[in-house]
Amino acid sequence: MLRVIDIVRTRGISRRTRPLVVLSACAGVTNTLIAIGELALKEKIAEALVSVDALEARHARIARDILEDEVEVERVQHALREIWEDIRVLIRGIHLLRELTPKTRDQIQSAGERASSLIFHSALRERLKESNISVNLYNAREFFVTTNEFGAARPIIPEIARQMRKIRSQLAKGAVGVTQGFIGRTMSGDTTTIGRGGSDFSAAIQGVAIDADEIQIWTDVAGIMTCDPRIAPAAWTVEQISFHEASELAFFGAKVLHPETIWPAVEKGIPVLVLSSREPEKSGTVIVESSDHELPITGIAVKRSIVLARIPSSNSIPDPSVQQTIWQAFTESGSAMPLAVSLSVDSALIALNDASALPVLRKACEGIAHLEIETDRALITLVGKGLRHQAGVAVRIFRALGRTNCEMVSFGGSETAFSIVVHNDVANRVVKKLHAEFFE
Ligand code: ASP
Ligand code: MG
Repeated sequence: MLRVIDIVRTRGISRRTRPLVVLSACAGVTNTLIAIGELALKEKIAEALVSVDALEARHARIARDILEDEVEVERVQHALREIWEDIRVLIRGIHLLRELTPKTRDQIQSAGERASSLIFHSALRERLKESNISVNLYNAREFFVTTNEFGAARPIIPEIARQMRKIRSQLAKGAVGVTQGFIGRTMSGDTTTIGRGGSDFSAAIQGVAIDADEIQIWTDVAGIMTCDPRIAPAAWTVEQISFHEASELAFFGAKVLHPETIWPAVEKGIPVLVLSSREPEKSGTVIVESSDHELPITGIAVKRSIVLARIPSSNSIPDPSVQQTIWQAFTESGSAMPLAVSLSVDSALIALNDASALPVLRKACEGIAHLEIETDRALITLVGKGLRHQAGVAVRIFRALGRTNCEMVSFGGSETAFSIVVHNDVANRVVKKLHAEFFE
């Protein structure tokens, strides 16, 4: 929290701008709250209550540690106690009714953000007092209006924008705002949450609603990197990436934030910066609608332990309807679509995220084709907007592969992705080579 205060001071407040700080819960708290609800449901009310006590003690300690003014400590402690008291009432209710509805679960989960923002607001206010900057705490359960799909509620942007008008004008008048990510309310006032890890999404939506100049997402990695640094230690942070490239990297296994969560901001032309709260001096990555960097490749993603399904035809005369049967099986079963495909007249090679679609495929192939399964494969994807238009990229990819057996190639379906499949055992080596070829 102290680090965040520093960040707000140095990267949020300027002569002309005031930030709205959107907070998540303290580390691990949301998980604990979910577990508490489950314990209460499973007749383990005593354990659940012990867990609430521990959360209470932890937050009380944080408040005592970072707040200086004694009166303020008292005020915050009192407000915190009310949050935990609410939770105790809720879990007794769950216990008595033997029922934990998604609605109740959302009420319980909301405690993490409510508690963290309460403490943070007070701490930031103390530290900005000398500069004469006022700090307001805004309750997302008042202004962040969502649908009523509890646990996965969708923000209603026009309504949020309307509700946030007052906040916007207070920011414009020089106040700093603090509020919660992840939580909101339905039109009729019930507490909702928008899905795990949803604070980034909240921040993006709130930024759109108040027409922010910029949205900064402070996480624990310094932006979007060329590759997982645990695989290629020379990996570095890309300065700028297009929304489409970021989406492809996420889809093909890179641990970057879920890009779809920031789409409303990108679409509106608000730059989204991804920065590291552990290394705040690093410049991070900016995600924009279309990037203007010159790199042929922006990043390399790896998905390990994928499954290759090989479907050679069993007929001597090619029968193209095999293709149709396979695709029909995917659509009708609602299975996740393949990561990559390679087709020939009556056979196919399909790369799957996991084994879940195999029973469906097996059934579809009965009597018309063989199905050979290969596990322990890795899908390595190079993402970059220059892929399709720059000659010679493929040569460099295959040069990096050297004598390594490449079992599948997928390219051209997307403007920005080139995927290859290799055995899990050699994946790291190949990624390192590719990284060296394109980034070192
Ligand atoms: N605290 C919420 C969660 O753990 C939201 C977030 O962290 O973004 O899912
Ligand atoms: Mg979190």
